Amino acid sequence: MNELTRRDFLQSAAAATAAGALVPSIAAASNGDPGLPSGPVVVSSANGLRATEKAATMIRSGADTLDAVVAGVNIVEEDPEDYSVGYGGLPNEDGVVELDSSVMHGPSCRAGAVAAMRNIKTASSVAKLVMQRTDHVLIVGQGALRFARAHGFEEVNLLTDKARKIWLHWKENLSDRDDWIGTEVPDDDAQANALAALPFTYGTINCCAVNPSGDLSGVTTTSGLSFKIPGRVGDSPIIGAGLYVDNKVGAAGSTGRGEAVIKICGAHTVVEGMRQGLSPTDACMAALRRIVETTTEKRLLRDDGRPKFDVKFYAVSKDGRHGGAAIWSKAQYAVYADGRNRLEPAEYLYERPEKDKDA
Ligand code: ASP
Repeated sequence: MNELTRRDFLQSAAAATAAGALVPSIAAASNGDPGLPSGPVVVSSANGLRATEKAATMIRSGADTLDAVVAGVNIVEEDPEDYSVGYGGLPNEDGVVELDSSVMHGPSCRAGAVAAMRNIKTASSVAKLVMQRTDHVLIVGQGALRFARAHGFEEVNLLTDKARKIWLHWKENLSDRDDWIGTEVPDDDAQANALAALPFTYGTINCCAVNPSGDLSGVTTTSGLSFKIPGRVGDSPIIGAGLYVDNKVGAAGSTGRGEAVIKICGAHTVVEGMRQGLSPTDACMAALRRIVETTTEKRLLRDDGRPKFDVKFYAVSKDGRHGGAAIWSKAQYAVYADGRNRLEPAEYLYERPEKDKDA
């Protein structure tokens, strides 16, 4: 019954040859030559230096890569001074903070995520529990909050006073045809003022790691686009968009305009690029080019035809190479490699014009 017909055999042989031509790195890995890293390599968005340090320290003392990256981003989720993640994140248009997060564990090929979850600081830890304690991958909204409560997470108001003032400033200045009287500046904090001057902001933390055995994991966590429509879900909790891990190849994640990343299955595209032999940086660049090619709506394009927005990808390969790339120049990414924790310049598609606030 399981006998292979000659046609099946020829078809699978042809497919294997084609795949072999495309995937030199996997061919090398299956020949027992994966070139594993000598120590932990951890990459993160530029706000993730504390996360990379923490994750690398934990991996060096034998922790699982997923536990390590989640503990790393928990630091930023709990930090009220980071306006893009967790507690202190900027709220939706109603002034309510809604969090998105996903995790992927390479060795077990498992994933978990939560989206539009309110009142819990560490969305990444809840995403990890979705992976560990349910048969589901993604739980959203009220269901995510109830799931977190059932697991003993403390409910808190995630809207800090500073984030509330930035939101209120946005709301008061939306229109001159309502009854809100626009105020000048919301706060004496320089970062708060800079944020209040923008129509909206993106911001997220992604963190991916590989250990000396070549096992990989990743996490992405965010409060998402500021002042979004309640219930809007970005790329961060979407497996294959804001995060993807393949234990044979590498891991990747993204920050920036989630709508653009979702449409090209961003992080998955980066990992597939690495599978086909691209370096992490080149794989990130190829995915960014795909975003530019697929961005055709005029409202999203500047006069010169380039996107008004930015997207950044971060990647690490099974053998410990790492990279980051952005649509616009001057971006950095955090990396722990060769025993050193630092920010590195990201590759980019376009030179960022001076005073360009849109991109
Ligand atoms: N990618 C996130 C989102 O679209 C936001 C960001 O990374 O800035 O929700």
